Amino acid sequence: MNQPTDILRKVFGFPGFRGVQGDVVARVLNRQNTLAVMPTGAGKSLCYQLPSVVLEGTCVVISPLIALMHDQLRAAEAVGIRAATLTSADDNRAETIARFRGGELDLLYVAPERASSSHFRELLSQAKIALFAIDEAHCVSEWGHDFRPDYRLLRPLLDSFADVPRLALTATADAHTRADILEQLGIASDGLIVAGFDRPNIRYAISPRGNMTRQLSDFIAENPGPGIVYAQTRAQTERLAEALAKTGRPTRAYHAGLDAPVRARNQADFVASEDMVICATVAFGMGIDKPDVRFVAHAGIPKSIEAYYQETGRAGRDGDPAVAHLFWGADDFARARQRIGEVEPGRQAGERARLTALGALVETAGCRRAILLRHFGETPPERCGNCDNCLNPPKALDASVTAQKFLSAVFRTGQMFGAGYIEEVLLGRSTERSMTNGHEKLSVWGIVSGEETALIKPVHRALLLRDALRANPHGGLEFGPGAKPILKGEARVELVLPPARRKGRRGAAAT
Ligand code: ADP
Ligand code: ZN
Repeated sequence: MNQPTDILRKVFGFPGFRGVQGDVVARVLNRQNTLAVMPTGAGKSLCYQLPSVVLEGTCVVISPLIALMHDQLRAAEAVGIRAATLTSADDNRAETIARFRGGELDLLYVAPERASSSHFRELLSQAKIALFAIDEAHCVSEWGHDFRPDYRLLRPLLDSFADVPRLALTATADAHTRADILEQLGIASDGLIVAGFDRPNIRYAISPRGNMTRQLSDFIAENPGPGIVYAQTRAQTERLAEALAKTGRPTRAYHAGLDAPVRARNQADFVASEDMVICATVAFGMGIDKPDVRFVAHAGIPKSIEAYYQETGRAGRDGDPAVAHLFWGADDFARARQRIGEVEPGRQAGERARLTALGALVETAGCRRAILLRHFGETPPERCGNCDNCLNPPKALDASVTAQKFLSAVFRTGQMFGAGYIEEVLLGRSTERSMTNGHEKLSVWGIVSGEETALIKPVHRALLLRDALRANPHGGLEFGPGAKPILKGEARVELVLPPARRKGRRGAAAT
């Protein structure tokens, strides 16, 4: 009796632990400090919920989002766990405090800013604490993608209850962030448990953006079933929902600016639907339980590889085949770089490293899954057989010479013209503007012709991605720090050209 597996069956109704859950629970029950890195959907909550039932005293859960806390509270109460939240949104706080003091709570959810207050520390000393569970633990790290200063104030609290075990949980932590979490929360490095991150049923694909509406319409025509399209802005969610409705699929928009009832209805419609496309900002998806999402498309780059993994991870939770397709533009990278310039200096290196990692994923001619899994510290096989590059290997091509021509044209025309004009110069297409500017006498005039013409646009994209070129607010191209090494021949520009679309892919009609 009262073996963890008995509790798992009787209280939670699960036949067994999934993945590393058993190891994590065993460590917690042994009162060992632990950092569990488990992908979304792996069942992190159980890792503290189950011990909270077994151990004497209250398990204090620190969680950053009130909405998520209330979801988890409902889920815990549904299986009979005695749980409460203590947040500014709760008007039963006095009752919760009384229950806690009386030892009647298995779980108490609080936000980090409350947890770190001296009031709360005082309260905790009035009853028995079984465990500190720190959810979304990557928020403690400046290296993480979602640093929250309040998380830094947790350490004194944890240390003042030094004999209470700590369990930190996160879905998203690269090696650097993990080491930082361990240090910040005072967990020894042998307390790290990492679950497998592979989602073999998800097929990854990444391609450059052209006409977004057309590309997405084609994409959803090829992919039946419910799916999510992540847009870059609130306005874009609405535009895309409207445009994609023309394909005949039911569509909805979802973003934080919609009235709460509309948002709730759109979400409920999507969860109930078998063929709906929801066009959403990244606010959508957290805490949503829809296992049969068949695709996740991105209309622009996500914030990081972690965010990409988490967002695409909402597809195919039922284990059936699902697709993740990212459409990217060079301007996404330019904008991201600009944003990095605006964050506080101490965090810029981390942000830059995250963007570089994302650029490598986007540009690779190799296996996408291998890059993702390596990012999470795994050692995957070279090829997965279920991503665009494995299924249809692209051609890699050294375009360094074309890149040098492009950069020279930008330089000789004074670093003030846009890509369209540079292309005209390279191709030697006479216009009124080129004549007036006297650019037809330049050495770069008309130096690109024949097959090389097709490389101009991909080279432009590659140069923006590498920060060799930057667009000024008027669209004029200027040199970035990546330009010199390319011009001097110290850095090569490899292009990955997508293979020609196979004929007949869309059905037998195309013969
Ligand atoms: P995470 O927080 O890691 O994203 P959750 O804790 O929300 O994941 O759990 C995801 C889902 O998996 C929930 O529906 C949960 O009930 C279910 N689950 C958790 N553990 C198990 C298990 N051992 N067996 C079956 N289902 C489980
Ligand atoms: Zn692959």
